[in-house]
Amino acid sequence: MGILEGRFEDTLITTTLDHAMNWARAGSLWPMTFGLACCAIEMMAAGASRYDMDRFGAGAFRATPRQADLMIVAGTVNHKMASRVRRLYNQMPDPKFVIAMGACTCGGGPYYKYGYNVVKGVDLVVPVDVYVPGCPPRPEALLEGLMRVQDKIAAMKPITKGELPRQLVPKRTGH
Ligand code: SF4
Repeated sequence: MGILEGRFEDTLITTTLDHAMNWARAGSLWPMTFGLACCAIEMMAAGASRYDMDRFGAGAFRATPRQADLMIVAGTVNHKMASRVRRLYNQMPDPKFVIAMGACTCGGGPYYKYGYNVVKGVDLVVPVDVYVPGCPPRPEALLEGLMRVQDKIAAMKPITKGELPRQLVPKRTGH
């Protein structure tokens, strides 16, 4: 192997299969098209030409959970919507990732105290990989969150069918 590396060092890249898979996966994320409230406007701005989320390989929003591997929960999750969010998450193929975008999604936001109809954090409904705080977070913040998801993917072990890719599923109890 040493001989080969010395001979082809300028023209040959050696890597592991894990690394190659994770590199491809991180650079081809498919977010699902849906937004729940005002934060979704900023998500749309992130996808539009000024911020151009496609530069990070995540600009092709899919209209079905079957073709998506990134759920960006953007906006207030109320109790009626919670079961729908969970159902959409369940319909996404593994490995899949979740970004909680905005104060409402992360923990109830301005509705934390008196919003009887608002879920106090979407991580009570689906496992969250990255939290992006703010009311609303700017598109740059969402792009930063996206890069943190890509960091997680880069560190992933290859998964087998039915195994979740994340090691750190937050454990929370209801409020
Ligand atoms: Fe709207 Fe602020 Fe809640 Fe985002 S965090 S959905 S901007 S109230």
